[in-house]
Amino acid sequence: MSASAATDLEALVTGVLRDIPDFPKPGVVFKDITPLLAAPEAFAAVIADMADRNEGRIDLVAGIEARGFVLGAALAHAMGVGFIPIRKAGKLPGRTAAISYDLEYGSATIEVHADDIAQGHRVLLVDDVLATGGTALAAWDLLTHVGAEVTGFEVVVDLSFLGGRQRLASRSVHAILTV
Ligand code: AMP
Repeated sequence: MSASAATDLEALVTGVLRDIPDFPKPGVVFKDITPLLAAPEAFAAVIADMADRNEGRIDLVAGIEARGFVLGAALAHAMGVGFIPIRKAGKLPGRTAAISYDLEYGSATIEVHADDIAQGHRVLLVDDVLATGGTALAAWDLLTHVGAEVTGFEVVVDLSFLGGRQRLASRSVHAILTV
């Protein structure tokens, strides 16, 4: 993508992202992507951009619950590859692999269906927002644990002041917008 096309896409996305102050708790500014999903031109442009960057390089897309499902499934469909959901504990009915990770207060567990990923499958991870990077890092490690080769992490927005990119260290991360 050319520099001016990237700027156009950033402007398009910026126009359909909504900041919700103090959600889900005081002091947090929630980046709401639902207006983007409701805007067909912007939604299509985001998926096309992610697809272009990863064309021919992946076997599967994995999306992180829940907004990563919407973006990830659309991306997988556009690229002609399969989709894998990474879910909160206790939601997947089949044989799962799980990983727990620390949150600001307490911890969380995410799971994947272990049988849906073959050894060496190239998997692209997708979510809406990169915040502290804890969820993405856990999802990356989980996919690696079940035999995937994770090729990268795609997000719409990187909240850079929360240091997620540093936490993901040398892993390939792409954000359409960095704020
Ligand atoms: P993280 O801190 O990177 O582990 O973020 C955890 C999850 O919460 C990710 O799936 C993000 O999509 C979501 N998230 C965290 N902070 C925000 C925010 N300010 N706005 C929207 N989503 C967020």
